[in-house]
Amino acid sequence: MYEIFADLHVHIGRSESGKPIKITAARSLNFANIAKECESRKGIQVVGIIDCASPYVIEDIEKFLQKGEAYELKDGGIIYKDKVCILLGSEVETSEKGRNGKCGSAHNVCFFPYLKDIKSFSEEMSRHIKNITLSTQRSDLSGYDLIDIVEKYNGILIPAHVFTPYKSYYGNCTDRMKDIFKEKYDKVFAVELGLSSDTYLADMISELENKTFVTNSDAHSLPKIAREYNKMLVEDISFKEVVKALKGEDGRKVLTNYGLDPKLGKYHRTYCDNCNSVIDTKNPVSVCPNCGSDKVTFGVFDRIELIKDKPNSKSPKNRPKYIYQVPLGFVPGVGGKTIDKLLNTFGTEMNILHLLSKDDIEAVVGSKVADKIEDARTGNCVVHAGGGGNYGKIE
Ligand SMILES: [Zn+2]
Ligand SMILES: [Zn+2]
Repeated sequence: MYEIFADLHVHIGRSESGKPIKITAARSLNFANIAKECESRKGIQVVGIIDCASPYVIEDIEKFLQKGEAYELKDGGIIYKDKVCILLGSEVETSEKGRNGKCGSAHNVCFFPYLKDIKSFSEEMSRHIKNITLSTQRSDLSGYDLIDIVEKYNGILIPAHVFTPYKSYYGNCTDRMKDIFKEKYDKVFAVELGLSSDTYLADMISELENKTFVTNSDAHSLPKIAREYNKMLVEDISFKEVVKALKGEDGRKVLTNYGLDPKLGKYHRTYCDNCNSVIDTKNPVSVCPNCGSDKVTFGVFDRIELIKDKPNSKSPKNRPKYIYQVPLGFVPGVGGKTIDKLLNTFGTEMNILHLLSKDDIEAVVGSKVADKIEDARTGNCVVHAGGGGNYGKIE
């Protein structure tokens, strides 16, 4: 067995022919470029691309395979240059009966072993989604029904960024995921935390104790790949091995979660949409203390405070460690040119963030910038919480 890094939530901006897939994502974010970026700059061995149910992306994948740059593995997944395993995924928005009788929507990332499986899934989902060519379009299904369709095509379902306002199970559908999945709740074996939460926050909710936590980037551009990721112990890289790791089967497991300090996330605290301020009160409020407006976007921290059923965060003993990491792009004073210089010298961002000594970094970028990177690597910096779609900031 050996250790690998996996990021299971990366979007596609455009197809290679320029067709829009996710409008808000970068143009350069296409299937082939993601594979290359993971191999050459990021040092990621497993990447889940979650816009692969779009027929335009399926065309790209078929071409990619025909060129001989990659091939499908017997145990599922596509292997690129024998170094990166790509998992074929689809992010699906479900419709739930929300809290307070309102309509709720939740995101789910679903992965399939083979191209033929995701093709069949795409075909069936086109009856539940208006425009199957675009990323994460709303379906008319509940998670309760979706999980059966996913399993019909040999896939797995992971509730995505589960606390995010507007688009997640806890964010705007329910206080307990079990109320949605009912007797199928045990089929959900992993849950994605999202950028604005971490293990300690999520372990305030007892129904999550038996679920594996995954930390993924939700990248909308190439540089953002692996801003959150998982270290896994596996025998090999393939769909089958990743599923085993997520289930904790046969000694495979998630060893460590690497994620942002949740304060850096876009939705950590409640945000007043009227006076545009992050509401940093000790307890959650639904009215802005600055201007009195009730037009607020609830924060992940605040939502967890409201729905938690454990007085303190106590993780089950097999819970992997959660390590805060500050991607280079977040470090003040570290621009694109500096990042390129570092990558040209040291290969991948993973090396720079986790393996190199400060002296090595200093030799390339000088002591001023090296000090800043070191402060970020050791958590020795002041973080101002994000909210309402604005990232937190490092002072
Ligand atoms: Zn999403
Ligand atoms: Zn306000």
